[in-house]
Amino acid sequence: MLRWAGRGAWPPDGERELGAIMEVIILGCGTSTGVPVVGCPCAICRSSDPKNKRMRTSAAVRLDNGKTILIDTSPDLRRQALDNDLTRVDAVFYTHTHADHTHGIDEIRVYNFIQRMSIDVYGVEEHIAHIRRQFAYIFQDTVKQGGGKPQINCKVVRLGEAFELFGARITPIELCHGKLLSVGWRIGDFAYLTDLNAIPEASMELLRGVDTVVLGALRWRPHDTHFTIDEAVEAAKRLGARRTWLTHMSHDVDWADAASKLPETIQLAWDSLRFSL
Ligand SMILES: [Zn+2]
Ligand SMILES: [Zn+2]
Ligand SMILES: [Zn+2]
Repeated sequence: MLRWAGRGAWPPDGERELGAIMEVIILGCGTSTGVPVVGCPCAICRSSDPKNKRMRTSAAVRLDNGKTILIDTSPDLRRQALDNDLTRVDAVFYTHTHADHTHGIDEIRVYNFIQRMSIDVYGVEEHIAHIRRQFAYIFQDTVKQGGGKPQINCKVVRLGEAFELFGARITPIELCHGKLLSVGWRIGDFAYLTDLNAIPEASMELLRGVDTVVLGALRWRPHDTHFTIDEAVEAAKRLGARRTWLTHMSHDVDWADAASKLPETIQLAWDSLRFSL
């Protein structure tokens, strides 16, 4: 892994394959329960609008050199992969370790089978340590391997330190998720910032110049650990991206209603949304 020290041309040696983003796929844009919520009789959970159906929050980033970065392994990963023809994963980036972002980790096995290789998994030290504890079976020697366990290599990254992966410049960025740390991922001029209720000033600096942002926003009413939609809009305006897509919405949010209230450049995502920069 090459660490990028700062100013100057990117990529540093000028001779690498391009790692520009070709496409971002929103695999899921729902909060931890998903929408509809099991057993909930509310109007949004019973809505027939496909944009009110939200799997757990995750995204895939496809680079123009054919590499695919998966952000988080949601419990819905299998369904998301099938729905979006996600047949290749070259790396996984973790935002944090809440169950709605990690519990699909076992689905990485299919990419081990397809690609006949282990997959690199990136996170900050505390998140990687948590994954090693939470999913200890993956890291323990067991008698029978079978088709049994994901084959992953954990790669520890440091907040604010840019590095190169697949020719793209990647920066892990500190976000506040209540009292917890959530990691935003800047990939070139794209930023993926979910599960947050504040962006530290130093992180705003690291996000300067982004073209497109995916930004977490739970609902209209206040919440201790997530931006409301209004707070997310405020943050999006400060970030100043050309385009912001909101994600991680609960069943309090009707897509069409919110769309009518939001500025044109800041809109709610929906599952299977694809965009380029
Ligand atoms: Zn979440
Ligand atoms: Zn509901
Ligand atoms: Zn969370």
